[in-house]
Amino acid sequence: MFIEKFKVESPNVKYTDDEIHSVYNYETTELVHENRSGTYQWIVKPKTIKYEFKTDTHVPKLGVMLVGWGGNNGSTLTGGVIANREGISWATKDKVQQANYFGSLTQASSIRVGSFNGEEIYAPFKSLLPMVNPDDIMFGGWDISDMNLADAMARAKVFDIDLQKQLRPYMESMVPLPGIFDADFIAANQGSRANNVIKGTRKEQVQQIVKDIREFKEKNKVDKVVVLWTANTERYSNVVVGLNDTMENLLAALERNEAEISPSTMYALACVFEEVPFINGSPQNTFVPGLIDLAIKSNSLIGGDDFKSGQTKMKSVLPTSIVSYNHLGNNDGMNLSAPQTFRSKEISKSNVVDDMVSSNGILYEPGEHPDHVVVIKYVPYVGDSKRAMDEYTSEIFMGGKNTIVLHNTCEDSLLAAPIILDLVLLAELSTRIQLKAEGEGKFHSFHPVATILSYLTKAPLVPPGTPVVNALAKQRAMLENILRACVGLAPENNMILEYK
Ligand code: NAD
Repeated sequence: MFIEKFKVESPNVKYTDDEIHSVYNYETTELVHENRSGTYQWIVKPKTIKYEFKTDTHVPKLGVMLVGWGGNNGSTLTGGVIANREGISWATKDKVQQANYFGSLTQASSIRVGSFNGEEIYAPFKSLLPMVNPDDIMFGGWDISDMNLADAMARAKVFDIDLQKQLRPYMESMVPLPGIFDADFIAANQGSRANNVIKGTRKEQVQQIVKDIREFKEKNKVDKVVVLWTANTERYSNVVVGLNDTMENLLAALERNEAEISPSTMYALACVFEEVPFINGSPQNTFVPGLIDLAIKSNSLIGGDDFKSGQTKMKSVLPTSIVSYNHLGNNDGMNLSAPQTFRSKEISKSNVVDDMVSSNGILYEPGEHPDHVVVIKYVPYVGDSKRAMDEYTSEIFMGGKNTIVLHNTCEDSLLAAPIILDLVLLAELSTRIQLKAEGEGKFHSFHPVATILSYLTKAPLVPPGTPVVNALAKQRAMLENILRACVGLAPENNMILEYK
């Protein structure tokens, strides 16, 4: 059974006018490696740590500024939200289609809240804590092309024509702000698009982005802004000692107008200066060590990298060989046809199985890795409708082999748009949550490197010295269980002892 809302009644949870306060017992383990009677043994001691969470329940008016607003993802997301807000429906050759948020974890998935009369009871994910309604988001952003969003939607060829016609009047007047452009960081084939660029030194460009964010906030009367990079994949920046390895060096390099500071890092810098959350939806290393250092010191949220939209979700198995072929014909595909931008994608796609491999010492020798080959080819004819072909080979019992081949055809931007929505909604929500562990004097926010967003990204960014979790089910459980803890609900343990 599905219910719309619920309220938790427990001595551990208090709802006030401004916040939800919960006390939560975190059951975990402590490990010791001890010498007992001459041999070393691993001893595991269960332990409980008391945490307190408080969540500000005032949902802000949210502005979302997209870098690459006029791209396929940017125009698809903007149009999709307008269609939902305006209740637009359109005729396809099959039926009359209503706008929806399918594909969004926050808007279209559910959580189990318990059992009632022998039936499992589920509620919307978004009923866990007060969240921004995507219909209320104000969109804006930058693009190196000055094409308005209505024309950008037509160029993307993602939406049915009847829907495009209805959306056009809403989107014609939306024109991206000039963006930061550096031809060295994206493929040469993108140059002809760049007719809307900010001039000046790197420092002046960053200052312009700061000004843009302030003006957008002012003009749209929003309380908070989240910025998300959905522009072209850049090549990796070289990480160089003295240039971008520490906060001080990165800021000094900006003063010196150093050429190796990428446009994406410049947008991120502006956001950290403004304490505006910045999420990177592409694979490049926007978050060079100096930027991470600055974000941590400024306690400003950063999250990424690379939207987890397709094949990555399937890689949460344990194969010995993965071969992923992609062909796509959109502008993303054209940009990725250059070797240096492809390399960013190859790295981000290849690392996704690392933690799963290292967590199983039975199947994998230390240091062993599956063969993981990634191929991306630009095929203009297929447009935004990506073809992804994956062959997974695992070794099974007694040396047998098991091969699964998947062929996936899908509009790439329709996969990415709801993920972008989830990223901004969850980033916003996480800035309203404070916590403290037993013994800690003061409440604090989550670590500024937002690992809570890992479920939605291919190559989750984590703070230095923190384990990366790639396994999909674990990432989902982390997110859901942390939000459950905020309302004093136990983690979903799937034991269903009521029926045993
Ligand atoms: P797109 O090429 O259609 O859009 C990118 C837009 O960014 C373009 O309009 C371009 O003019 C603009 N741009 C480039 N550099 C810019 C800059 N420095 N400042 C401002 N604007 C700039 O691509 P897309 O299909 O929308 O994908 C966007 C990104 O998302 C790509 O990097 C892609 O790899 C990544 N991504 C997409 C998916 C998916 O499923 N669609 C999944 C993972 C990652």
